[in-house]
Amino acid sequence: MTLHVHNTLTRRKAPLEPVEAGKVGFYVCGPTVYGPIHLGNARPLVVFDVLFRLLRRHYGEGNVRYVRNITDIDDKINAEARRRGVAIGALTAATVERFHEDAAALGCLEPTEEPRATDHVPEMVALIGRLIDLGHAYEAEGHVLFDVPSYPAYGRLSGNSRDEIVAGARVEVAPYKKDPADFVLWKPSTGDLPGWDSPWGRGRPGWHLECSAMSGKHLGRTFDIHGGGRDLIFPHHENEIAQTRAAHADAGFARVWMHNGFLSVEGEKMSKSLGNILAVRELLEDWPGEVLRFALLSTHYRRPLDFTVGLLRRARAALDRFYNAVGEAGDPEAAGVPADVLAALDDDLNTPLAISAMHGLADRVFQGDRGAAAALRRAGAALGLLGAPSRSWFQGADGDEARGIEALIERRASARAAGDFAEADRIRDELKRRGVALMDGPGGTTWRRT
Ligand code: AMP
Ligand code: ZN
Repeated sequence: MTLHVHNTLTRRKAPLEPVEAGKVGFYVCGPTVYGPIHLGNARPLVVFDVLFRLLRRHYGEGNVRYVRNITDIDDKINAEARRRGVAIGALTAATVERFHEDAAALGCLEPTEEPRATDHVPEMVALIGRLIDLGHAYEAEGHVLFDVPSYPAYGRLSGNSRDEIVAGARVEVAPYKKDPADFVLWKPSTGDLPGWDSPWGRGRPGWHLECSAMSGKHLGRTFDIHGGGRDLIFPHHENEIAQTRAAHADAGFARVWMHNGFLSVEGEKMSKSLGNILAVRELLEDWPGEVLRFALLSTHYRRPLDFTVGLLRRARAALDRFYNAVGEAGDPEAAGVPADVLAALDDDLNTPLAISAMHGLADRVFQGDRGAAAALRRAGAALGLLGAPSRSWFQGADGDEARGIEALIERRASARAAGDFAEADRIRDELKRRGVALMDGPGGTTWRRT
């Protein structure tokens, strides 16, 4: 089966047909680096990492370009640096470093390119100049604004026409705007705010413009896939499309738009005011990154996902089961993903279905089919899971506990061998009380948390 992906633009699932045969390029909006990422931000990271792995399998490692930017020019950064009394450069550098650590802990491969807004200001200034020359942008009070009515196709991605947007008051009203839907491409920087010289005075780019400039520089004006969380559909991605396509008549921009659903926390939107922001760093103190990754992949990426502690417990239990089944078998680097797992992923990244196919493989291992263990390892690799030896999973997660459980299992085996079934049952019951289920199979006894 070929890879099918859902396209927000057409609202349909269709086979991916790259612009250039045999090669794929995709762009994902990266973090705005003013603070630690939360579990919601981790969702696109993990989802598009699975896409990256899958594309590399289909097209070959050298033929896939994954560009994920760093937004290091943004008013939230300026405000946070001021609040903390630190230099902007120091804040962004430290935040990027922590972001890389978090992404690695979540099992994400590095993207092929990671452009930073601060390295692309000349491209941004050039893009704005072109939009002005073509009559799609205008200068007003030191700002440059995109003239939305000059681009009639505006609103196709989000399904919001300019009129609906204005009527719904989903735009910021400002006296210098010709039309309420117009949005900022460039704004003036006064005092100690970061600024760059431009034909419109010292200033800084708007966020939407940054992504148009960076994607154009690294992937060209027409490329395969653009991704991000669904909150970015409007206005961020809508505005990116308008900027790039209005500036270049030949620009197709992204052909496919993929958006992940939102992560909520116990039914509520994550927000500062509710105090329910789940920093990845803090979760990593209590849970292995692989548990967070598994939890994020346990629901289809387009659906909403509600976080509860139970979600992480279930993720850990499933990983315990898989690591029990896989043992030390298999090589995550080995080629070939089991057909049902690949078919699930090829169907618009159906990770929950892939995971249920992995449970099927684990069942086979527990029924005595050791060959299924290597297949399970390879299935895990497609999702960026099961990369560690089982021993280190259990030791890393809960080494003492795992060793204690294994010692009890051995005592039970000796008791049974000696005919002392009462003692064997007592050990089984004790483990059961501790939330550990034993599975006796032809290859010996395995266990999992219940
Ligand atoms: P930001 O730093 O806010 O621009 O967000 C970085 C990425 O995380 C974007 O792709 C957002 O769409 C995504 N994102 C932010 N919050 C959530 C959430 N609660 N659930 C899923 N994705 C999110
Ligand atoms: Zn973006």
